[in-house]
Amino acid sequence: MAKKSFKLENINDIKEFFDSYDTFIFDCDGVIWRANNLIKGVKEALTLMKKNNKRTIFVTNNSTKSREEYFKKFSSLNLPVDINDIFSSAYSTAYYLGKVINFPKDKRVYVIGTKGLIKEIEDAGVNAFGYEDNITEPFVNEEEIFKSIKPDDSVGAVVVGFDMKINYKKYAKAYTYINHNPECLFLVTNSDITYPVQNSVLPEAGSVVAPLIAIANKEPIFLGKPTANMINCISQKFNLDLKRTCMVGDRLDTDMVFGKNNNITTLLVLTGVTSEETLMNQNEIIPDYYIEGLNSFNQII
Ligand code: PLP
Ligand code: CA
Repeated sequence: MAKKSFKLENINDIKEFFDSYDTFIFDCDGVIWRANNLIKGVKEALTLMKKNNKRTIFVTNNSTKSREEYFKKFSSLNLPVDINDIFSSAYSTAYYLGKVINFPKDKRVYVIGTKGLIKEIEDAGVNAFGYEDNITEPFVNEEEIFKSIKPDDSVGAVVVGFDMKINYKKYAKAYTYINHNPECLFLVTNSDITYPVQNSVLPEAGSVVAPLIAIANKEPIFLGKPTANMINCISQKFNLDLKRTCMVGDRLDTDMVFGKNNNITTLLVLTGVTSEETLMNQNEIIPDYYIEGLNSFNQII
């Protein structure tokens, strides 16, 4: 019979589980908050973690905000976190460029994405541009295209994140940089095809980048959950013992796969996009453990 997830519900099991890990990596939306609303018991659970010297790291695939902006969001929800413990897919991309591959100082990165993503990349000491292409007029004149979009060897990477202002000019530029310079890297903050909105979903970075993947002459490198690239960036920054680390998330195909692919224990919470019924009615991705929510840890105070 296929292995099942173990439900943490009685106090002894929760306590034993809690004592088995030094570091908890928390996904944000669905675990800490839902959109802008704090999930019940989270503040108390994080206080409990702190009191017991647990390291807490906050990971999100949402590349739209800088860590400073996330820090403000945590503060507005009255959650005491250290800005250095926030690790978004935007920061992961910046960290990869700045610290993992030592992106050359004389090259530039063309960014399809938000100001927050550009800020993270610049803060990592990397030259970034692209925000000026948030044009409001449709880019329909072919002559204009030929005039303003040229291969450019100073562009050493194209980064694509979630972008509500995506347009043809951005695709045309990114395509030209990627395909006309064999050295140009093609990076994507995260592969999520959709993100949750009230009662539905909308296109995320995985959908924004799909047309570019279709025409690019090289494979993209993804930096968010569930990639090994992201865990490598996190491990390098925090010097983690992965055997004593637990990944806590609400989504099977990003958070739980992230833990599973990278040999980290996985804990699914039911406060986000996955219900107990959904979990039980599939046998593709089996988290090691599941729990109602972070509030359940507060029993062991
Ligand atoms: N991307 C966007 C634009 C979002 O709004 C969200 C969640 O609200 C996500 C991605 C998923 O975020 P997380 O990885 O924190 O669940
Ligand atoms: Ca989530």
